Amino acid sequence: AQQQGGNALRYYDQEMNARAIERLALEADLRYAIERNQLQLYFQPQAHIHSLQIIGVECLIRWHHLGKLVSPIEFIPLAEESGLIIPMGEWILRTACQQAKAWQDAGTPLIVAINISVRQFQHPHFLSLVRQVLQTTAVDPAWIELEITESVVMQDADHTIELLQQLRDLGVMLSIDDFGTGYSSLSYLRRFPINKLKIDQSFVGNLVSGNQDAAIVDAIVRLGHNLGLTVIAEGVETEAHLAVLAQLHCDEIQGYYFSRPLPLAELTRFLSSQIA
Ligand code: C2E
Ligand code: CA
Ligand code: CA
Ligand code: CA
Repeated sequence: AQQQGGNALRYYDQEMNARAIERLALEADLRYAIERNQLQLYFQPQAHIHSLQIIGVECLIRWHHLGKLVSPIEFIPLAEESGLIIPMGEWILRTACQQAKAWQDAGTPLIVAINISVRQFQHPHFLSLVRQVLQTTAVDPAWIELEITESVVMQDADHTIELLQQLRDLGVMLSIDDFGTGYSSLSYLRRFPINKLKIDQSFVGNLVSGNQDAAIVDAIVRLGHNLGLTVIAEGVETEAHLAVLAQLHCDEIQGYYFSRPLPLAELTRFLSSQIA
C-alpha cells in the first residue's frame, strides 16, 4: 500500500508538472498572439428594450490558437497574472477605438463598450494610455464606454473616484459591469461619476415575474434610475426574460435573444438587416 501511495504521489507530481509546463507554454503563446494577429474582437449588440434598436456593442476578445477559439474565461485570468493584460489591453483599447472611429466616419456611430480588467485599470499609465489612444485614433470619445467591475471600484475609493473623474473628463462613458455580484457598499455608487449599471447575467438566467431574481432586478433598476443611471441587463436569452425586464423598466438589453457576439463581417450584416 505504501508503494502504491508513493506512486500516486509521483503521478500527482508529474501531473502538476505537466500542467505548469502547459501553462507556461500557453503564456508564451499568448505573448506572441498580438504580433501574430491571433487576437480578434467580437462585438455583441446592445439594444433598447422597447424599440430593439441597436445602440451599441460590447467588445469581447477571442483568441485563435492552434486551430481553436480559446475563451477569454481561460486566458484573461492568465493574462492578468502574468501581466500580459497590459499589452493585450492596449491592443483591445486601440482596436476598439479604431472600429468606433470607422463607424463614426461611415455616419453610423455606435456606442463601443470596452472591458477593462482590474490590473489594467490599476496600472499607473492607464489614464495616459486612454488619452493617447483617443488622440491617435481621433475617435469621438462620447461613443466610447469603459466597463469596469465592482471589485475595481471598491479598492481605494478616493483614488478611484479621482481616476474615474479624470476618465470622464476625457469624454468617455463608464459602466459598472457584473453589477450585483460584488460585496460592495451601495453608498459608493452615488460618489462615482458613472453612467450605466450592467445587471449581471446571473440575475437574468432564471428571471420569472415575481421570483427572487425579479426582486433583485427590480431593486437594481430602481436604484440605478434614482441615481440617474442607465440600466442594461446582460445574458438576456429569451422573450420571457425580455418581457420581465421591460415590466421592471430596465432600459437596455444584451444577450443571445437579440444576438450572440459576432465577428465584424457578421455584425455588419446584422446591422444592415436591422436597418432594412
Ligand atoms: P463579461 O464582460 O461579463 O461578458 C459577458 C459574457 O457573457 C461574454 O462571454 C458573452 O459572450 C457572454 N454572453 C453574452 N450573452 C449571453 C447570453 O445571453 N447568455 C450567456 N450565458 N452568456 C452570454 P465571453 O465573451 O466568453 O467573455 C467572458 C468574460 O471574459 C467577460 O465577461 C469579461 O470578463 C472577459 N472578457 C472578454 N473580453 C474581454 C476583453 O476584451 N478585455 C477584458 N479585460 N476582459 C474581457
Ligand atoms: Ca463586460
Ligand atoms: Ca458582465
Ligand atoms: Ca462576467
